[in-house]
Amino acid sequence: MKIRLAADLQPDSIVDGEGVRTVIWTQGCPHNCKGCHNPSTHDFNGGTLVDVDYIIDELKSIKNQDGITLSGGDPVCQSEACLKICKEAHKIGLNVWCYTGFTYESLLSNPMHLALLKEIDILVDGKFILEEKSYDLYFKGSKNQRIIDVKKSLEEEKVVLVNKYINKKDYSNHYEKPNYLFI
Ligand code: SF4
Repeated sequence: MKIRLAADLQPDSIVDGEGVRTVIWTQGCPHNCKGCHNPSTHDFNGGTLVDVDYIIDELKSIKNQDGITLSGGDPVCQSEACLKICKEAHKIGLNVWCYTGFTYESLLSNPMHLALLKEIDILVDGKFILEEKSYDLYFKGSKNQRIIDVKKSLEEEKVVLVNKYINKKDYSNHYEKPNYLFI
């Protein structure tokens, strides 16, 4: 199985999720967010096709990582390959973060997307909205985006945000009447 990547694996990141992480930069994104920080990753024919087994072997050989982060691009557009990577990452003790321009809710109705969700620990969802950009946020670019505990959200059948990443000022600005559980 192949996956199209925008760049080689990037170990030792401390800005793409909690802890020390290896980032997998997927190629291809349909969202075209204004102000996107990474427009070279949009082209679905760009980047490089890489064997998923190569990525898994690399993940096994890279030391001292807490997890992997699927970013891009939009990893959900290559769900099948990402699912295989996530399963193998979990087997070797790595947790999984994933960034997507889709919303959590929109992924639930697609069986392949749902299968991928079930192998993701933390999902950062939603398009990047330039007007809501802030440097005051943890691990996300704009206030509309959410840092979601996927397993709890699936269990509770409602979005469960990761409380420790909520900036109170931004939270009160964006959600007047929150309908979320917090952990
Ligand atoms: S989802 Fe991410 S990669 Fe895609 S256009 Fe938006 S900011 Fe850029």
